Formats: sequence, structure tokens, C-alpha cells
Amino acid sequence: MLYSEIADAYEKIEATTKRLEMTDLLVDLLKRTPKEIIDKVVYLTQGKIYPDFVKLEIGVAERLAIKALAHASGRRESEIEEDMKKSGDIGETSQKFIAQKRQLTFFQKPLTVQKVYETLDKMAHASGSGAVDTKISLLAGLLADATPKEAKYIMRAVTGNLRLGIADMTVLDALAIAYGGGKETRELVERAYNISSDLGRVAKVLAEEGIEGIKKFKVVVGEPIRPMLAERLSSPEEILEKLSGKCIAEYKYDGERIQAHKKGEEITLYSRRLEDISDQYPDAIELLRRHVLAKEAILEAECVAIDPDTGEMRPFQELMHRRRKYGIEKAMEEYPVSLFMFDALYVDGKDLTLEPYPVRRRVLKNVVREGERVKIAKSVIAGNIKELENFFLEAIEDGCEGLMCKSVNEDSVYQAGARGWLWIKYKRDYKSEMTDTVDLVVVGAFHGRGKRAGTYGALLLAAYNSENDIFETVTKCGTGFTDEDLAKLPEMMKKHVISHRHPRVHSLIEADVWFEPKVVIEVLGAEITLSPIHTCAVNSIRQGSGLAIRFPRFTGNFRIDKAAEDATTTSEIVEMYQKQLKKIAES
Ligand code: ATP
Repeated sequence: MLYSEIADAYEKIEATTKRLEMTDLLVDLLKRTPKEIIDKVVYLTQGKIYPDFVKLEIGVAERLAIKALAHASGRRESEIEEDMKKSGDIGETSQKFIAQKRQLTFFQKPLTVQKVYETLDKMAHASGSGAVDTKISLLAGLLADATPKEAKYIMRAVTGNLRLGIADMTVLDALAIAYGGGKETRELVERAYNISSDLGRVAKVLAEEGIEGIKKFKVVVGEPIRPMLAERLSSPEEILEKLSGKCIAEYKYDGERIQAHKKGEEITLYSRRLEDISDQYPDAIELLRRHVLAKEAILEAECVAIDPDTGEMRPFQELMHRRRKYGIEKAMEEYPVSLFMFDALYVDGKDLTLEPYPVRRRVLKNVVREGERVKIAKSVIAGNIKELENFFLEAIEDGCEGLMCKSVNEDSVYQAGARGWLWIKYKRDYKSEMTDTVDLVVVGAFHGRGKRAGTYGALLLAAYNSENDIFETVTKCGTGFTDEDLAKLPEMMKKHVISHRHPRVHSLIEADVWFEPKVVIEVLGAEITLSPIHTCAVNSIRQGSGLAIRFPRFTGNFRIDKAAEDATTTSEIVEMYQKQLKKIAES
């Protein structure tokens, strides 16, 4: 298959502002792709060459990409940098410079997908002292054979920014249509993805073996499972009502979620976003080695920073010091961690994901030997409001965020990759809607004036509509940013700038700058109101109105642990709005 076919499809996808059209274009591309390389095309379309849990990345810094472009186009690096100041996009600049060079050369070998993939793969594997030079020459070699349009997408892919914003869920839709025989098979295809986290492999098996192949997907140590997520409610009454009067209430620890995969002595840790974060936590690995009794297991835990002097729990933000490549030994001493185990998904040959939670918890207790720094999440079985409320206060007292209330019913399976009502979080801040924080996606920005000239005056923020896989605007936020935040924002957002509203963003407001939905920030809102201009949950409360968050303030937290699809959902905002109404009525 020629890479130009992919580049043409990308160009069309990039130009559309309609979500369904985007899926159709993807269906078309997947149908035209030979089955043997469909996995590769799926990875490439997401700007990757492997699933997230594989530690290899193409990893080309912009500086390095500029050097390769200079080689391939025969232009000076300074000229390229100058042009990039205007375009803000290495893809556009490459397209232009390669086009100008094309007019001078005649011979060109058409690029195949295989060739592009293999070269990117070689780049990802380049290591050691000569790695930089190897990467530059491999990339320059590709550019030499690329058409201007191909150069644009190759350069965006290698610098980690394809800007197409195609979500996993969109690819699953497209796969079910193209190879699953229609939308009815969507659920099975999604389950395969949820337990393997490997979209490329799902695509390949589906294309080659059909839905029968998809049914054979199994939970395997070494392949992370997409995490189960919780809904939220703000009173013990409602929680108990939802969970049929009884639940296991656990402390909701304020740390980083970890999915540990153990195979003998070998242990790998995956983050909430399923990236391999083993290097950040050698101490946690050692703890698991000593305290997990099973030979093979997939267990989940919250990894919490603790005060080295007092042993008390520290807030999530302290774990940020662990996100580093070098000096991890020192960081481990300064910011030690404890593990609080809360689920068992697989133990010694047995897939537990379809077992009810009480069974999984029993297994967890059997395979974890508790110690000072490894504990099973503290819990009670709560059957009445008083018990739940008391345990909640105890959790807050002990430095936790609140409680995770989990269903004990027969159907309380591990819902991989889904946010559902089998787990309900009960956090302190929901007690008063006025101090609730939400995680919103930055989808646009407005130019600043006066003191803020040259940076952004405000950001256009959106909630995630998980049903339709789109982002709906909910507020414009300009407060809470420090001078430092403001200075770095345009630089930080630069790589996500696109020329028009993204097809997955619904907005009636025209932003000055549009972004691919990627970056999530935490915002504190004062209240939620009906709004004629915001699209969040439009028509769900009143015809013609959406919901808006008033007086938003950035809390200072960039939620780098969250993908855009992990942002607060529109239905959560609706819930919060209804809660707020109720409260006003009661007061
Ligand atoms: P938040 O930002 O509120 O942590 P989230 O979107 O990251 O939410 P949710 O599923 O809504 O994730 O909330 C559950 C999160 O709480 C888990 O991802 C996990 O990291 C953390 N957590 C802490 N203690 C527990 C526990 N006992 N059981 C399950 N999750 C827990």
C-alpha cells in the first residue's frame, strides 16, 4: 500500500468538521488497507507505531526534525525555524519546503506504508551515542522520497503530533463497520480492546479472522487492561440507593493508579493511561515482589506518596517528582511511596474480570501479604447511611479524598474501560457544589489584550460527551493562571493548534485559536447555569440550552495523567447541576 493513500485520507479527515464523516473516511481507509498491515495503519493513524504500553517511542524532538528537514530540502535550519514561527507546525513547514525542492528534482521512489513504518521503527530502536545521527539520517532519507503532503504527516507523526484527534472509540466504530459486519459487533470488538489495550492487534485479528477471532481474546499478563472507572454521587443516601442498599466502601486514596503485572520475578507497572511506568517506581516493584504471593497476577493499587519522617500520606502532586528519567534514586528517598491494593484481575491462570467484586477482593486478600508499606485498601461493608457517613469522615481525617463505594451484587464484574455505576466515588468537595472541581479539555483560546498581549486571555474549555464521543464547550476560563502559566501556555499548546474547529468539538463560540482536544486542566467552578451559548448537555435540561460553569478558576493542576477522554463527562455535569438545584430547593 502506498503511503500517499494514507496521507490523502488524513488530509480529508483533517478537513472535516463532522464527526460521522470522520468515521466514514476512516472506514474507507481501513477497507482499502491490506489485512497484513492493518495493525500498522491503525497505529500510524494514532501517531504511534506500537500500543501505548510498549515503551518504545519514535521520539524525535523538534530540533532534530528541523535538522533532518534541512538535510532533505537543502535549506538552512534558520530558514526553517523562521517559517515555523509563522506556521507553528513542523508539518506545514515541511510540506512547503519539500514542495519547493520537488520542483528541482525529478526522480522519486514512491513511499510504501511498510517502508514508512519500518523506518519509524528503526528510529524508535536507535539508541546509544550515535542515536541522534541515526535518527536524523533515517528521517532525512524518508523525506527525500516523500511528496510534500506525505512529508507533512511524517513530520507530524515523528514529533508526536499528528493533530487528527482520532479517538480509540472512533477507530473501534470504524473497525466494527469495516470488518465486524456492522455496529452489532461493536461490543465484542470493544471488549477485546478493553482487555488487550492493543488497537492494532484487535484490528488485525478482526480483519483476518473475523468476529470469531475477536471472541478468543483473553486476559494475559503483560497486556494491560483498560481501567474500570467510577461515577460520582454526593450523598450516602443516593449511593446506597444506587447500590441496592449495601456496598463495600473503601478509602479513596489520593495517589497514582497502578496496574501491576507479575510474571515470576518480573513485574511491570502501567499507569492509568496504560503507559509503562516501571522506571518511576523501582521501590513499588520491590514491594510487590516481596508482598504478592501469586506467581502470576494482575493487581491494581493506588500508589501514594508518604512523608518519609512521619509515614503520613502526602497529596498526589508530590508524585510528580517521580516523573523523571534521571535521578530516580534520589527521588525515591525524598518521596517514598506506599501501595494500597484494591483489585485483582487475574491470578495464576484465572481471569477474574468477570467475577463479582467480593470474589475478587477475597482473592486479593489471599495473594497479598500486608506490610507497613503494602496494604489492602481500608474498607467496611456499609449497609446504612450512618456507617457510610462515619467511614467517609474517617477517610478524610486520614488524608484521603473520600470513599470509593463498590457494588457487591452478583453482576459487579470488572467493567474494563468503562465508567459505570458499579463503583461510585464520594468525595469531600461534592458536599458543596460551590467548591467542586472538574477536569476540562482545552479546545480553543482567545487572544489576550493589554497585560496579556502575546499570550492567551482565556481558554475555551469542554466536557467529554462519552456517548457521542465528542467534546462540548462548558466555559471560558481566564482566571487562576499565574504569570508563569500564562507565559508557557502558548508554547505548551502550540503543537495542538489546528486551523479550524476539530470535528469532535461542538461549539457555538468562535475561538481565535482552535486546538486538537488533548490537554486537560483542573478547574474550580462556582456554579452551573443554563446557557444559550455553551453546548454541554444541550437540550437535556431545557430545549435550546446547554450548561455552563460560571466563575471558573484554574486550580494550577495540569492533569497530565488524563487523556481528553478522561475529562469530566457531560452527564457528570448534568448530575452536578441537578444536585445543585436540589440543594437550592432544600435551603
Ligand atoms: P479522580 O480524578 O476523581 O481520581 P479518575 O477519573 O481518575 O477520578 P475515577 O474512576 O473516577 O478516576 O476514580 C477512581 C480513581 O480513584 C481510580 O482511578 C484510582 O486511581 C483512585 N482510587 C483510590 N483509591 C481507590 C480504591 N480504593 N478503589 C478504586 N480506585 C481508587
